[in-house]
Amino acid sequence: MDAGLKRELEEKVYAGERLTRSDGIALYESDDLTWLGRLAHHRRTELNGERVMFNVNRHLNLTNVCSASCAYCSFQRKPGEKDAYTMRIEEAVRKAKEMEDEQLTELHIVNGLHPTLPWRYYPKVLRELKAALPNVKLKCFTATEVQWFEKISGLSADEILDELMDAGLESLTGGGAEIFDWEVRQHIVDHACHWEDWSRIHALAHAKGMKTPATMLYGHIEEPRHRVDHVLRLRELQDETGGFAVFIPLRYQHDFVDSADGKIRNRIQARTTMASPAESLKTFAVSRLLFDNVPHLKNFWVMHGLSVAQLSLNFGVDDLDGSVVEYKITHDADSYGTPNTMHRDDLLNLIWDAGFQPVERDTRYNVVREYDRAPSLASRRAEPQQVWA
Ligand code: SF4
Repeated sequence: MDAGLKRELEEKVYAGERLTRSDGIALYESDDLTWLGRLAHHRRTELNGERVMFNVNRHLNLTNVCSASCAYCSFQRKPGEKDAYTMRIEEAVRKAKEMEDEQLTELHIVNGLHPTLPWRYYPKVLRELKAALPNVKLKCFTATEVQWFEKISGLSADEILDELMDAGLESLTGGGAEIFDWEVRQHIVDHACHWEDWSRIHALAHAKGMKTPATMLYGHIEEPRHRVDHVLRLRELQDETGGFAVFIPLRYQHDFVDSADGKIRNRIQARTTMASPAESLKTFAVSRLLFDNVPHLKNFWVMHGLSVAQLSLNFGVDDLDGSVVEYKITHDADSYGTPNTMHRDDLLNLIWDAGFQPVERDTRYNVVREYDRAPSLASRRAEPQQVWA
């Protein structure tokens, strides 16, 4: 990038001016990672100071049986496959109760598009979960699942969301977004929920008062221009609804041979590598700068590793996903040694060691607890800083 353009972009960021599509593409073309981090950190500090938010949540997947076969997905199973499963409602409640320790505040539930489970199963499971864990917020279902519910129930998304909210739904999840541009999407997504339906369902949820997350799966066959396009669509929708609470860039993961059946399910890994840590940090930084109207940027550390999670706090990220005991969708594809359990103390140390201030939040980003600042590194020189994998 020439010095003139660099200065121009820098001036725009410091003046709080909105960046354009070509600005976004130019930022991705820059190989000056420190510069990108400085710009993103400026914006992140304006919005969120030195805070790093987290919440104590658990993930639950009711079924891995799915009618679709998305090319990147290592989670889905077809009916009759050896490790296909579907939880009965009592089983889901029992599992959730087992996870209730440590002041759990949120259950995150996403599932396959089960071909024969009836629609009434879903509100029923929410009602039973809410009755069993009244203080736990239920963040459930992607827009893709809501569109699937329309298909299996004959109801509209409007009616479906009303019934799910009545059963205890607090928020949708942000999945199913992947990359919206059809040029890429047609090669990776096998279900029928694309930008038109995904945005329709989130806008509807926002109109009903929900705050929802939005995601982007990057680092596979897409190019930076597709990431820019993805964020700009979301930014435009955010201008209309103001309902997105957070943006979560998710790093595409390769699949490994499944020990249960010796299969590799991911069909795109022969065509791609995974994003390097530098590419991930760049993606966080550019996302923070372009998506100027979303309050928070999250790093789901299970997909990035803990060192990159710490570094990302200097590249626009202000939100880390909390303790996760079970997260099957990712961990079916993860052999990189990232732990799948982080406890509150681990997370606090991770944030303090990176020089930030931890704040526990709830599903709607209300503050649950502010933590003191860590003792300065100088005063705890005798203690070695923790080294994160
Ligand atoms: S990503 Fe979701 S919809 Fe696609 S195959 Fe996997 S479980 Fe099914």
